[in-house]
Amino acid sequence: MDEFTLIRRYFQPLQQRQKEAGEESVSVGIGDDCAVLNIPEGQQLVVSIDTLVEGTHFLADTPPEQLAWRLLGASVSDLAAMGATPSWLTLALTLPHADEAWVSSFSSALSEATKLYSIQLVGGDTTRGPLTLTAQVHGFVKKDAALLRSNAQVGDLICVTGTLGDSRAGLETLLTNVPADSVVEYLQQRFYRPQPRVSTGQLILPYASSCIDISDGLLGDIEHILEQSGVGAQINPAALPLSAEIMHFTDEHTAKEWALIGGEDFELCFTVPPEQWISLQEDLQSHDVQITPVGAICEAKGLQLFTQGEWRVAEANGYNHF
Ligand code: ADP
Ligand code: MG
Repeated sequence: MDEFTLIRRYFQPLQQRQKEAGEESVSVGIGDDCAVLNIPEGQQLVVSIDTLVEGTHFLADTPPEQLAWRLLGASVSDLAAMGATPSWLTLALTLPHADEAWVSSFSSALSEATKLYSIQLVGGDTTRGPLTLTAQVHGFVKKDAALLRSNAQVGDLICVTGTLGDSRAGLETLLTNVPADSVVEYLQQRFYRPQPRVSTGQLILPYASSCIDISDGLLGDIEHILEQSGVGAQINPAALPLSAEIMHFTDEHTAKEWALIGGEDFELCFTVPPEQWISLQEDLQSHDVQITPVGAICEAKGLQLFTQGEWRVAEANGYNHF
């Protein structure tokens, strides 16, 4: 199967569906030299790109459906962290050979994922080489309203979405080959199918002072907010939101460790000025994603954890003693 047949058969149809839905943001999509796109009045374009390389970011023989969900989930999570609304996707695929079954499975999962995240495939590139998948995602945010990493203030509360550590636990179940049951399945889904918190990002937009998505682990990622905002943080491990499933799968100490330094949760970590807290709570009443305060921004630089009855300085990746 040549490149053009492959594009026509497996990627162009994704766009057809969107056309039928009456989307008007795309003047020209797949099939010309470039896509021609329309940015709504008063909005800014928010762009991010992510690459998955076989052997580096995923194991050889990972099912293509899982790759599609991981690729898109992780990329759209970056849009969520800016408070942006997803709009367009471009996709660069490097394939070792034209394996039609592989492309077909990948394309149907991608179709499902783009539908779920309301993002439109508008172009891409297809080449031959070691299996590599690159997604560039685009979104909109009202002019100058994007949630940055750089605006956390002393006294702000630090909050996280969902539960933390599940993805790391899911990886553990894969590495140790534990028999499947409903707990294991849940944790593996959390690993394979990150749920980008797009609606939460938009909801917190008017209230939050800074935001990041948790891809490397809470401690490592909040460090970026601290650096760019020139502040420090205190985090209480006792407050970390842990799922019933992770508590079932491992002991509390390990669960907290995974919650703090395990990667790929794709939850949001954001800061909220205390005077915004009540209004945020009101808006959260009809929101289906759990939000948990886990600490506060402080003046003293660095990161402190409340362990063994006192605040102790923590290293982003050296969380061993609590
Ligand atoms: P060019 O040679 O001008 O780069 P290509 O032959 O690479 O054009 O691509 C033809 C069209 O197909 C372009 O509109 C491109 O955006 C689209 N395309 C190529 N690969 C993909 C892909 N994997 N997913 C979506 N669109 C693709
Ligand atoms: Mg090309």
